[in-house]
Amino acid sequence: MRTGNKIAWIYTFLMMGLVIVIGSLFYVLTAYAVDRIYDSYLEEKAYASAEKHWEKDELDAESYALVKKRYEHSLPATREIIFNADSLEKAQEILSRYLTPKQIRQLYQGEDVVHFDASDDQLGIALYYPDNEGNFIVLVLSNNRYGARILLYMRWILGVSLLLTFLLVYAIGKLYASRLVNKIDEAYQREKAFISNASHELNNPLTAIQGECEITLLKERTPTDYQQSLQRIAFETSRMVTLMKHLLFLSKGDQEILKRTMEPIRLDAFLKEQATGQVTYLSNNSDFSIEANPYLLGIAIRNLFDNACKYSSGKIVYVWLEERTIIIQDQGIGIPESDKKRIFLPFYRGGNARGFSGQGIGLTLSVRILRSYGAAVRIDSEVGKGTRVLITF
Ligand code: ADP
Repeated sequence: MRTGNKIAWIYTFLMMGLVIVIGSLFYVLTAYAVDRIYDSYLEEKAYASAEKHWEKDELDAESYALVKKRYEHSLPATREIIFNADSLEKAQEILSRYLTPKQIRQLYQGEDVVHFDASDDQLGIALYYPDNEGNFIVLVLSNNRYGARILLYMRWILGVSLLLTFLLVYAIGKLYASRLVNKIDEAYQREKAFISNASHELNNPLTAIQGECEITLLKERTPTDYQQSLQRIAFETSRMVTLMKHLLFLSKGDQEILKRTMEPIRLDAFLKEQATGQVTYLSNNSDFSIEANPYLLGIAIRNLFDNACKYSSGKIVYVWLEERTIIIQDQGIGIPESDKKRIFLPFYRGGNARGFSGQGIGLTLSVRILRSYGAAVRIDSEVGKGTRVLITF
């Protein structure tokens, strides 16, 4: 699994875990609060029921009508059990069906009301009611239908929130992860490929030098043989030194490139000076100048000239300035469409460049230097016709 996807999944599971924990906590607290509210309704019903039973003889008609009204308006759909608390055996028998021995003791020892859970969703209350006719106990049992409905809604809300969280977090996670993390992943893969290519490119001249030494040392040689052998070793060594220099440059950040002393450079004079041999400068007396380090700018431009010359096998290469743009035009082999994006990668060589010497690092280096001086590099090319490099400052 790609790192981006992995992070998106981890992020999603963490968020889901968080939503489940918070949701469950919220659910449990709500269920508790709903039951407690229902308990207070049961208590009211128990008192209303007791008063309806035993206060008729003590109240005038109007007050008793109010008591009855209160009874009718309090919780409907309840089951009431009323019995004499003083008939201990019978009371004990009924109470023990619903209450624990401790709760029964509490009721007889002066606690007016005792709440209990009659069954899974049935709540109950026991009320001890002393009256002039004797002491009574009122049991009220009821299914908390309102609470059950509230909790059902909550379960739905939590379920839907969980699903939405999953979809949303996964989508966001995937978007960011694939954008950011996959970029890091790609950079890491590029870095790995870079190291492997660099080792390979360094290994080639080293192997050549080693082979040259071994063959030369096999027997006594003439001074000319030694000279030729050393020349071959010097050639390979200089190839390696150039490659090392290029690699060192590539490993530097823009800031390090910009740290090199910069000075104003008039591009027409600069290009005229660099354009030698196969390269012809077409002057148009532009006075456009930039701030750069002449040594680094020289490396960048010369690499591009070298490529233009190399891939056009002796044909003239033109370079000129158009306002803020340097244009290098050759009439060489051109770059195949499929290679155009990748030639900027270190060590990448075009499919049609195999017959030419090179290590695939020059263009990357040039672009790196030119970009740190604020230039945009574009390459227009057609296979068999030629290549045009445009550097716009
Ligand atoms: P190389 O050492 O292969 O020339 P570069 O990094 O300089 O490496 O260039 C990378 C690739 O870009 C080359 O291998 C070649 O395929 C392509 N390329 C660059 N410049 C030109 C050009 N002027 N004409 C044709 N192909 C070019």
